[in-house]
Amino acid sequence: MSHRLVYSFEEGDKGQSDLLGGKGANLAEMTRLGIPVPPGFTITTEACKQYLLDREVPLELEIEITKALRNLEDKIQKRLGDKDNPLLVSVRSGAKYSMPGMMETILNVGLNDQSVLGLAKQTNNPRFAWDAYRRLIQMYGKTVLNIDGSIFAKELEKLKISLNLNADHEVPESALKDLVGIYKKIILEETGSEFPQTPREQLDSSIRAVFDSWNTERAKLYRRRERIPDDLGTAVNIGAMVFGNMGSDSGTGVCFTRNPATGASGSYGDYLQNAQGEDVVSGIRNTLTLEDLGQIEPKIFDELHEIMYKLETHYRDMCDIEFTVERGRLWILQTRIGKRTASAAFRIAAQLVDEQIITMDEALLRVNGQQLAQLMFPQFDNKNAPEPITRGIPASPGATVGKAVFDSQRAKEFADRGENIILIRRETNPDDLGGMIASVGILTSRGGKTSHAAVVARGMGKTAICGAEEMNVDEVNHRASVNGIDIFEGDFLSIDGTTGEVFLGAVDAKPSTIVKYLLHGITDATKDQVADDIELIRAVDRLLRHSDRRKKLAVRANADNGEDANIARKFGAQGIGLCRTEHMFLGDRRVLIERVILAKSAEQRESALAALLPLQRADFIKLLEEMDGLPTTIRLLDPPLHEFLPDISDLRVKSALNRERNIVNEEVEALLHSVELMHESNPMLGLRGVRLGLVSPGLYELQVGAIAEAMAELIIRGLNPKVEIMIPLVGSHMELRITRNAAERVIQKIAQENKLDLPIEIGTMIELPRAALTSNRIGPVADFFSFGTNDLTQTTWGFSRDDVEAEFFSRYFELGIFTISPFETIDEFGVGELVRIAAERGRSVNPNLHLGVCGEHGGDPESIHFFHNIGLDYVSCSAFRVPIARLEAGRASIANLNAATTDK
Ligand code: PEP
Ligand code: MG
Repeated sequence: MSHRLVYSFEEGDKGQSDLLGGKGANLAEMTRLGIPVPPGFTITTEACKQYLLDREVPLELEIEITKALRNLEDKIQKRLGDKDNPLLVSVRSGAKYSMPGMMETILNVGLNDQSVLGLAKQTNNPRFAWDAYRRLIQMYGKTVLNIDGSIFAKELEKLKISLNLNADHEVPESALKDLVGIYKKIILEETGSEFPQTPREQLDSSIRAVFDSWNTERAKLYRRRERIPDDLGTAVNIGAMVFGNMGSDSGTGVCFTRNPATGASGSYGDYLQNAQGEDVVSGIRNTLTLEDLGQIEPKIFDELHEIMYKLETHYRDMCDIEFTVERGRLWILQTRIGKRTASAAFRIAAQLVDEQIITMDEALLRVNGQQLAQLMFPQFDNKNAPEPITRGIPASPGATVGKAVFDSQRAKEFADRGENIILIRRETNPDDLGGMIASVGILTSRGGKTSHAAVVARGMGKTAICGAEEMNVDEVNHRASVNGIDIFEGDFLSIDGTTGEVFLGAVDAKPSTIVKYLLHGITDATKDQVADDIELIRAVDRLLRHSDRRKKLAVRANADNGEDANIARKFGAQGIGLCRTEHMFLGDRRVLIERVILAKSAEQRESALAALLPLQRADFIKLLEEMDGLPTTIRLLDPPLHEFLPDISDLRVKSALNRERNIVNEEVEALLHSVELMHESNPMLGLRGVRLGLVSPGLYELQVGAIAEAMAELIIRGLNPKVEIMIPLVGSHMELRITRNAAERVIQKIAQENKLDLPIEIGTMIELPRAALTSNRIGPVADFFSFGTNDLTQTTWGFSRDDVEAEFFSRYFELGIFTISPFETIDEFGVGELVRIAAERGRSVNPNLHLGVCGEHGGDPESIHFFHNIGLDYVSCSAFRVPIARLEAGRASIANLNAATTDK
């Protein structure tokens, strides 16, 4: 083993997050920049990986820690846990991607019965020393020894009640000494061993606890959700302690160089005097603002702002910074690229361009399709909303309605029943992660914008309101009360994460301003809006237009009627990639197809088909009018025929009842007979797509005729229809050849009748593995391929697309077989490989072939990057996802997705 496992903060830089974790790399970077960071060292992710593999600390690591510790001690002239002049250290996890609150931190390591006295003397502050000691035992007990944290918390509460005190920082020295005794007893009772007095043992166990915390259930759950690989491991950062809890001239805070919730420029943050570590984010006391800090400590305030400016211009992005003030001296404990809401992401990206910190290309990489999707959600219609029952801090935007639930377990139960819920807690901690995932919104009575609830909710894109202080939350009895109103489990609440308002009942929502912009343009959308919204709309507009200039993939829409096509076009669709004609025969029109299927004679059949023709023609005219001048792909009928027939069970019941009552109803019997004949065990693999066209004489010809007639009519009216006919579920080139020939005959006849040229392209879907693999044979017969990745996923995996997601995918996620459903994001290695092969083989025999995707993956951000990379011509998705696809197609051509995820 030649790799080093420990690096001092004076080594390394921000590019080394694989090895040093995000936090470690940034600590090294800040040290390099001359920012006041308490000295320390980082144990690499490699060490963690080795430990997790062997279940023991590598010997080399122990040696390297000893050396690094020695250097640290020499540098600050203190010894770990020394009885007179103790060095104390913090032990913090820090993986490559930040996992807020998911893994452990232990502070004040090095304190014992001796060094606590040394610390008291050294600082001339015995109260502080005992407070630090009781915190260490508490954190160590919970994190390293896995003792239920509430046992310690209860003792502290008891003590405060007996002394009639409200806040932790009011507890006097003597009581803290008693508390240390009580905590040590808890450790002995719970584990059978004393709290370790040897500083190095404390340190080593804490390091192991951080390594182990990589594999806690909540960390695994977070990684699955955020799609962070399980094998990265975490680094561990050991830093000399600085103390924010040394009195009112000390404190701890979190700040952002811009507002992470709204995106407003100017710093934003929370500060807590006389506090340590997680106090500021845990919501135990209400925090002060940065402006307050400016009043209390103007010099610190100025220095902090200088550092913020330095970091933001250095990282060229909004930074999230943790700091501590120790007796009037500022220390920076951590920085990272700040997580932000969707609107903040767009506004900040545009601001940074205007401030000449980044280019437009870079700005495009700072936003993503998922964020744009969030901005397209509706908002509450404030004019019609009732008075809010209370207000909290708007921590993560969105307008959400759900039923009140007060704990994670119940949240999951409600969500499993398909109900939307709002999780209400006093404050959240990492144990609430499951409940937060299950909820549509989160409401807490304590904590601010940097609280755990706020940070995690923003990361998940969920609506959240924090610090709704008027609300009294009784978690034990599953109820809350606010201003005389009781809220019980199951009551509907509406929360507005943009304004912080909480409403009783379900409030109507109004469409988003971004949707208004997309539909009606920027002038209309910005009229009568507040400045924040105007800035957001302008940012979205700029970035979308830039993306359109950069993208190589065209974006089309899946739309089945004129109205959808109209919206799709406004949203920027460059054509229709899939019109599913079977959707034109839903509802009242279903019987028309039923008549075709059940026709007993050629005559009956012809007349049934003739009835269909004008309807189909009218449908196509509307669609092609909307899409005038843009390519429009119309797919011939695809689903199994029985979908157009009455339900077999209903017919069986009818028939049995008739028999019982001695009624003879020949119509029912004939229908039942036909339906039974057509019944299939696996309709998805049965008489579908082109097979249906080949065995139902006249059906496809009828559709082709309607398309050609519609086109002819529009040309005569002076329009410019661009039509593509698509044949579904082709597996053999012969299926396509025969169908194509028949279609061409019909088109030619109609062209001749109208004395027109009808240049209609005819292509096929590639949605069966055989089609993909034989695409060199299919290619010459097709003008285009459109990948039906829904069916291609179904048939490649052998998964029934209607069943498996609900049936067993959740278990597959748990087992790590999937990180995401292959029906949502393309399975690059299997299904994606077939797409790649088909594209290559198809083009090798037909260089004019154009290639697109019309399965659901066409609107999925990650899949779009893949389709870009393999050189397809377009993606097609539902109208609502068209703007998202436009944005992602532009991002894909600037960089691949990995380079773009800077803020994970
Ligand atoms: C597909 O299979 O991907 C597709 C677009 O067709 P459908 O979903 O209609 O089967
Ligand atoms: Mg299909």
